[in-house]
Amino acid sequence: MSTNTTVPTHVADSAPASQAEARKAGLLVLNWTGGKCLCGCGRTTLSRFAPGHDARLRGQLTRAAVAGTGVRVRDGEAFTDTTPEAVAATLSTPKHDWVAWVREAAAAAKKRAAAAAEREKAAAERKAEAAAKGTGAPRPSLSDLLPKADDAA
Ligand SMILES: [Zn+2]
Repeated sequence: MSTNTTVPTHVADSAPASQAEARKAGLLVLNWTGGKCLCGCGRTTLSRFAPGHDARLRGQLTRAAVAGTGVRVRDGEAFTDTTPEAVAATLSTPKHDWVAWVREAAAAAKKRAAAAAEREKAAAERKAEAAAKGTGAPRPSLSDLLPKADDAA
């Protein structure tokens, strides 16, 4: 008989678990702990972003704004759930208006999506039309294959 007892894996209410949950819930998760890049990539940086990652975060915030998803910003064990617009406002500087960037990029993305949906709808309509024409053709029958009386003459 084994004396081993199965110790259930303890799932702590740890930050990584809540982060996974947040991702599952569709939230954009940004880890602003310590000297981490603000885009959430986890890289340590002396400034706000690793090189080029400000553009990366702008893209992420834009997608979140278009999709209407929230943002979870973490700092160590603490976190807050907010909106992409609020994060953009926090990141804005006198030189760089993140709110306008995100708003304009989101509007452009929505416009592109609407245009794509319009094209898709038009293509579906053409397809349906073609299908209707196809089924509108008369159905052939055996008599169409038989020699006609006139041909025999
Ligand atoms: Zn980054």
